[in-house]
Amino acid sequence: MSFTDRTALVTGGSRGIGRAICLELARQGCNIALCYAGNQQAAQETVAACQSLGVKAVAYRCDVSSNEEVKHMTAEALKEFGAIHILINNAGITRDGLLLTMKEEDFTSVLDTNLKGAFLCMSALSRSMIRQRYGRIINLSSVVGLHGNAGQCNYAASKAGILGLTKSAAKELASRNITVNAVAPGFIDTDMTAALPEHTRTSMLTTIPANRLGQAEEVAKAVAFLASDHSAYITGQVLAVDGGMSM
Ligand code: NAP
Repeated sequence: MSFTDRTALVTGGSRGIGRAICLELARQGCNIALCYAGNQQAAQETVAACQSLGVKAVAYRCDVSSNEEVKHMTAEALKEFGAIHILINNAGITRDGLLLTMKEEDFTSVLDTNLKGAFLCMSALSRSMIRQRYGRIINLSSVVGLHGNAGQCNYAASKAGILGLTKSAAKELASRNITVNAVAPGFIDTDMTAALPEHTRTSMLTTIPANRLGQAEEVAKAVAFLASDHSAYITGQVLAVDGGMSM
């Protein structure tokens, strides 16, 4: 796969799966615009790692749940890179809790970041993608969006919402040579899952046929395929990268 002369915008590219996606695309010659919420040091480390692979890379501080910030960031990135060909909506958070006790703000903040954030970025970049008659949009969902998970009503709703958003946008944009797909990771070894209590991690392992956590790089390879020209006739699909968890 080659991404020479292409630019990808990766939300939440500072750490975890987002960083692995930036590095995988950069390794294949893709220029990288990434955004992050607040961890500037991690963002700069990703930028430096991409640049050392010979591509242009810039980090933007941007809260994807803010329409104003997303509009500003995408305008800056379009000015800097000339065009954005690939959009990866990866930024995500968890605020776990049981339905009975979940606070309204924990529901809203997860939906705002995980689902509205993806909508805002797609909305901000779809016009330029239509104009250039080319686009690849990949949204990060989760096995939890496919099957639900006790203690994650907010997160599961956001990740199930991503699937409806993906399929609807895929139908709207297919005739403009823009594909929109989702990747649904299982249990991947990142800061997000490191925050889980040990007993939860141990019991999660028993639900994975492959009997191990996935690596961020394994998700990044699937994303890179959907971002490439090899997937030109694939749109509106959900690719699970989960060691068999969702079978
Ligand atoms: P992570 O390690 O916690 O990293 C989250 C990333 O999102 C960071 O770059 C963070 O920026 C950024 N971010 C958070 N809120 C943001 C906001 N409001 N605006 C902009 N950026 C924001 O997460 P991860 O495990 O790599 O997960 C990445 C994606 O995969 C998420 O959508 C997650 O739901 C999904 N996923 C993960 C797993 C898993 O097992 N890890 C499984 C299924 C799906 P800062 O560095 O500045 O904080």
